[in-house]
Amino acid sequence: MASIRKLHRQLIKKERSAVEITQEALDRIAQLEPQLKSFLYVTADRALEQARQVDAKISRGEEIGLLAGIPIAIKDNMCTEGIRTTCGSKILENFIPPYESTVTQKLAAAGAVMVGKTNMDEFAMGSSTENSAYQVTANPWDLQRVPGGSSGGSAAAVAAGEAVVSLGSDTGGSIRQPASFCGVVGFKPTYGLVSRYGLVAYASSLDQIGPFGRSVEDVAILLQAIAGHDPKDATSLNLPIPDYVSGLLPSLRARSGIKIGVIKETFGEGLDPIVEKTVTKAISVLQESGAEIQVVSCPRFRYGLPTYYVIAPSEASANLARYDGVKYGFRYPDADNLIEMYQKTRAQGFGAEVKRRIMMGTYVLSAGYYDAYYLKAQKVRTLIKEDFDRAFSQVEILVCPTAPSTAFKAGEKTADPLSMYLSDLMTIPVNLAGLPGISVPCGFDDQGLPIGMQLIGKPLGESRLLEVANTYEKATDWHNYKPQGI
Ligand code: GLN
Repeated sequence: MASIRKLHRQLIKKERSAVEITQEALDRIAQLEPQLKSFLYVTADRALEQARQVDAKISRGEEIGLLAGIPIAIKDNMCTEGIRTTCGSKILENFIPPYESTVTQKLAAAGAVMVGKTNMDEFAMGSSTENSAYQVTANPWDLQRVPGGSSGGSAAAVAAGEAVVSLGSDTGGSIRQPASFCGVVGFKPTYGLVSRYGLVAYASSLDQIGPFGRSVEDVAILLQAIAGHDPKDATSLNLPIPDYVSGLLPSLRARSGIKIGVIKETFGEGLDPIVEKTVTKAISVLQESGAEIQVVSCPRFRYGLPTYYVIAPSEASANLARYDGVKYGFRYPDADNLIEMYQKTRAQGFGAEVKRRIMMGTYVLSAGYYDAYYLKAQKVRTLIKEDFDRAFSQVEILVCPTAPSTAFKAGEKTADPLSMYLSDLMTIPVNLAGLPGISVPCGFDDQGLPIGMQLIGKPLGESRLLEVANTYEKATDWHNYKPQGI
């Protein structure tokens, strides 16, 4: 599908109607879904109704915003009033939220047209979308491969042109890693910038909602619409939101000598050589565009993964205690007593990965282990944050690969959780420190699979980050490639 700006121009010039644009997305969904499976459900009637309202506004001569009439897909862990929200889990298979998440409510108010809810790893736990209780999403570039995860459905939908943009959530990399695997732009904002009200909680101190798009500008437009203070989220930052969109300058030369730091520890061992070569080349493009490149060290970066796998499961074990068969969703129907009902509901309602994490989290939080694991992990989290602070005293933006490899084959890592966890080696530290990060397409491997470069900003440094990402995009052609054969 075309860019937001192009579609907006067509709408206001009355060259196309919002209903026609929505129908294009719905037709594409109908054509591709049998193979791709990015959506858990398509909300066609509601989408067409929203589109008609936008058309009515245009015909009344009213002004419309950039997102009005733009087809958008939403990860199925954001509550949508009256529309099933399963979080990719059997335990929420019949959950119809009685309220709307702040982000989807803001998008609806902006006139964006929600075409459906996308597939995801159950409770956002995973890196391949294979942990969904419902279906396995294919990577549009190679249907045998995974789209990444946990927001794999949202990434695949944008890459395949089933929606113009989409929303995902990122706790340890779940926007940036699938963006990298699917050849699209994915953005994780500073913790607290986007309201989490109505986002089904996985690990609350790490979760952030963010946009996917085919260009940095599309992502900036979507971020603009969802960012901002929300009294319904106690961790929401109460700060003015800058204009991300008009701040996008085409050249870094305009800002002479912006310093970008290459994170030394993310290169070398464990990194696919073609990813290394491609990202190194991309960094030289940044240099040619006017950035000053220097190597920086984040020595504690490598403790990110073990730290995350203590903190995230701990928070998850507490957050997921609410699924007990009483309050929401699935309930085991034939229990003889309350305890059996709790046990069988959770045994049958949760998948293997979710159970693994609830067990890990319960263990590390238990009396006697709390100090050794949870408290220690919180201390290491601070050390990782200090590494970033030190790096940011030398440079303004950090750069590294988004993921150590390109998209792997479905089934390749499902038997080995540890190798799956390694997919997020480079994205997790960014969540632990609460920083903004973006993945931009920067090339392909020898099998034609997309590669992503991750740029990391200072806290609330989204404007600068988007500006650098946009400069890179304008200097290259990678974002213009589309998956063939689907
Ligand atoms: N893949 C990581 C995990 O499995 C990150 C998930 C996420 O960001 N939601 O937890």
